[in-house]
Amino acid sequence: MTLTEIIETFKTKLNPSKIMDSLEKKASFYDESEYSGDGSGEDLKNNPYGNLTGGSVENPGVTRITQNEKDPLIKLTNVWKIYQMGEVEFAALKGIDLEIYEGEFLVVLGPSGSGKSTLMNLLGCLDLPSEGSVLLNSKDISELDESELARIRGQMIGFIFQSFNLIPTLSTEENVLLPLEFQEEDIEVARKKAAYLLDIVGLSNKKKNLPSQLSGGQRQRVAIARSLAVNPPIILADEPTGNLDTKTGDYILDFLDGLHEREGKTIIIVTHDLDLVKYATRVVYIRDGEIEKIEDRKKNKTEE
Ligand code: ADP
Ligand code: MG
Repeated sequence: MTLTEIIETFKTKLNPSKIMDSLEKKASFYDESEYSGDGSGEDLKNNPYGNLTGGSVENPGVTRITQNEKDPLIKLTNVWKIYQMGEVEFAALKGIDLEIYEGEFLVVLGPSGSGKSTLMNLLGCLDLPSEGSVLLNSKDISELDESELARIRGQMIGFIFQSFNLIPTLSTEENVLLPLEFQEEDIEVARKKAAYLLDIVGLSNKKKNLPSQLSGGQRQRVAIARSLAVNPPIILADEPTGNLDTKTGDYILDFLDGLHEREGKTIIIVTHDLDLVKYATRVVYIRDGEIEKIEDRKKNKTEE
């Protein structure tokens, strides 16, 4: 299913602006008077992503590496991460073996300090292991040079960070444009994409606002729009609900779930929140830098 179809489904079945409206009104951090609840969907009529799920149509110079479906998208073999603090070494990950396949909704569950963010940085190729190997699309990332890695990572992975990681001096729109600029996207096309994505997440009326002028839930939605900007096949999220009230968190998760179900995106979430397990097709339990167990499961979003 294309992004357009997803939007249509959202628009007709869920009416996200209405949902967001009521959620935002209930959320304590929210000032009711500020929300205009635009929801006109003007920007949705013109889908700049075309029908290509791969989304690189406007970027003919950028090649995606093709992948045999049976091979994992990401493969970690005996991965160690050792932090050096002066004289002292600390092993945050101790021999992680993990394969992630296209179309999975993977939840990595573990308590605070268990190594989740460290693992996310490695899965997202933002950091290199101290020992062991990380393969992205069967390529060993430690053998790629910095710019090649940045390019492949930029096309393959959308990040949603724990603290949202929005640039405080950039507006909502500029934050969403950022990953497109790294892909040397034509600015007019990039603007259309940003407008389209901000409409998806219901923030068309906040384009010019700075992060400090947004609620927590709105910031998280900007972060999601930004993570989708290059239409990457993999979305990686670190505690996506950690800084949100329950209802906004549920909305965000349902949104990611929609991307998984209807767009076939591979979703990887690291969290301490047991509630998120219900969305997963596989759960990896991590403790003290080691995988305790891995559980295959069927999604069951009604379980409590
Ligand atoms: P989680 O995300 O599960 O809370 P982290 O991956 O952030 O855990 O951290 C795992 C462990 O590694 C923690 O004990 C943390 O203190 C340590 N750690 C994380 N980053 C660093 C760093 N840059 N230097 C030293 N120790 C670190
Ligand atoms: Mg963390």
